[in-house]
Amino acid sequence: MRDRPRVVIVGAGFGGLWAARALARSPVDALLIDRCNYHTFLPLLYQVAASELEPEEIAYPIRSALRKLPAVRFMMGDVRTVNLTARVVEAGGQTFPYDFLILAAGSVSHFFGVAGAAEHAFPLKTLMQGGALRNQILSCFERVVYEPDAARRGQLLTFAIVGGGPTGVEFAGALAELIRGPLVKDYPGLSFREVQVVLLEALDGLLPGLPERLQAYALTRLRQMGVDVRLRAPVSQITREAVLLRDGTSIPTRTVIWTAGVRGEPLAQAWGLPTNRAGRVAVLPTLQVPDHPEIYVVGDLAHIEQDGRPLPMIAPVAIEQGEAAGRNVLRQINGDVPLPFRYRDRGTMVTIGRNAAVACVWGRAFTGFPAWLLWLSVHLVNLIGFRNRLFVLINWAWDYFFYERAVRLILPAEEGRARSGAPAP
Ligand SMILES: Cc1cc2nc3c(=O)[nH]c(=O)nc-3n(C[C@H](O)[C@H](O)[C@H](O)COP(=O)(O)OP(=O)(O)OC[C@H]3O[C@@H](n4cnc5c(N)ncnc54)[C@H](O)[C@@H]3O)c2cc1C
Repeated sequence: MRDRPRVVIVGAGFGGLWAARALARSPVDALLIDRCNYHTFLPLLYQVAASELEPEEIAYPIRSALRKLPAVRFMMGDVRTVNLTARVVEAGGQTFPYDFLILAAGSVSHFFGVAGAAEHAFPLKTLMQGGALRNQILSCFERVVYEPDAARRGQLLTFAIVGGGPTGVEFAGALAELIRGPLVKDYPGLSFREVQVVLLEALDGLLPGLPERLQAYALTRLRQMGVDVRLRAPVSQITREAVLLRDGTSIPTRTVIWTAGVRGEPLAQAWGLPTNRAGRVAVLPTLQVPDHPEIYVVGDLAHIEQDGRPLPMIAPVAIEQGEAAGRNVLRQINGDVPLPFRYRDRGTMVTIGRNAAVACVWGRAFTGFPAWLLWLSVHLVNLIGFRNRLFVLINWAWDYFFYERAVRLILPAEEGRARSGAPAP
């Protein structure tokens, strides 16, 4: 090993960035590689799609984040190959040898084999996808104004969200508030009785894993907000014109939003890493890959169980694992054994809309205004960058006091389309 061991980190999301921070002031030569030149605060992505926030308010330039981290360099590039035997990473046509590798490449949407989902549904995983979904929703309203055909109007004004987990619930609430608030004012001639927001969940409750009281609160609240929540409604097919349920029901729509699941970044399997059915790498308690003590996997890409249950794919897990992997690399460099990782669960929060959220923290369950305030504070504090925090706060306050959404621009661009074959509304 050289004087300064070479550490390559793939992915500058929550896991990768926090791993870089853990190594920042150590005698290592660290290289952080990401295909984007910014870090995305994914927990607020649904607000970009719901015209509440600008994309740049939830993104932060990686180079700015690294300014005070002398040991870490950045390269913008798509990692296509990791050669586990030669210990090199290939990105942007160049190869980078490593002594230690931290993989934090995150996850992609998982369509569970539902026919047509990959082609016709709108996923919500990247900034571009958030922008593409916002364009789609606003374009539907623009098109419907001059659409005489009743069936086609129904399609344009029906928005189906697949998946009643946190992202589905948060987006359904935000979309309902966008429609019943600012869009009602924007489209005075439109009959809003025609507009439908449908939330489809295959299980018999929303927000699986949260206490029943919180699940029931979320269900009641969304229904009060006009969201048509359908439980035990597994989706069997998505077409350009409709979403089909397994019981034969067809819901005509041009906009199906997929929030039903994610799987580990598929490239990990191609690189020869052992992955499970969800495409995640089953790591040792130290976060190392079996038989590869020089490779760590963290965040959504890592599968690890604690107290008999897999750790969830959420930001705090990725952050704590990134930090732990960084510390373990330093321990190995110093000749110490890596320590097992243990996640300190601080709780879960999901917002539903104005003054309405659910939170399960410090072993206690909250609903309504206190939970909403807690959600706002936690997300604001955790957002990277003072400017971002300020602008998000201004946008939230504007929305709260004036029932307005600041960002209602349709900015279509071919390269901005989040997926191939995205239908024009
Ligand atoms: C819409 C949405 C809402 C969410 N809401 C919440 C929430 O409210 N609370 C919560 O705790 N969690 C939430 N999550 C989950 C949370 O965002 C993830 O668990 C977390 O981002 C995982 O961190 P990560 O570092 O593993 O991956 P990511 O943060 O996804 O980062 C992966 C990075 O790797 C890069 N990358 C991937 N492959 C390559 C490659 N081949 N070459 C170069 N770069 C690559 C990507 O560009 C990305 O920057 C949400 C997720 C989504 C999608």
